[in-house]
Amino acid sequence: MKKIAVFPGSFDPFTKGHESIVLRSMDLFDEIWVAIGNNPGKHCMFSLEQRMQWCKEVFNDYPKVKVASYTDLTINFCHRVGAQYIIRGLRGGNDFEYESMIYHAGKYISPDKPVETIFLITENKYEGISSSIVREIYKNGGDYSELVPEAVKLYSDECI
Ligand code: ADP
Repeated sequence: MKKIAVFPGSFDPFTKGHESIVLRSMDLFDEIWVAIGNNPGKHCMFSLEQRMQWCKEVFNDYPKVKVASYTDLTINFCHRVGAQYIIRGLRGGNDFEYESMIYHAGKYISPDKPVETIFLITENKYEGISSSIVREIYKNGGDYSELVPEAVKLYSDECI
């Protein structure tokens, strides 16, 4: 059976930390969905279209990686694409607290069609990278280029 995983996130914007999680997952799965959660209640700096375009460009040379967006529960998206796994990245204690809460909630939501979550601890060099740090640097005119993949070229759009 094809092993299918979903890597969900806001990716506002997609960073080298996110990229590294997907690249490290490449040998573990046959298909990986980078799934951009489009929650209308959550304000994002960059438009959904922009975030989708960046992710597509980053993984242009990786046929295993698909990019999509969704507006409902992550678990429902997993069911739609037939994924048995969710991938999440962990940087430290705060991520762990948050992720374990989401993990347990997922078990209640979908007890009959379980989707297992695989956690990858970040590489040392990416521990300090987050989308919010990139946004802060960007807003203040700093150089964020070391923190995002080559394909991610930030520019202001209607979402700011
Ligand atoms: P969300 O809004 O779902 O937290 P993010 O886009 O912030 O979405 O993050 C998506 C996933 O990537 C989460 O599992 C997060 O912990 C992980 N992640 C974010 N930054 C890093 C990083 N530097 N190294 C490893 N994982 C990361």
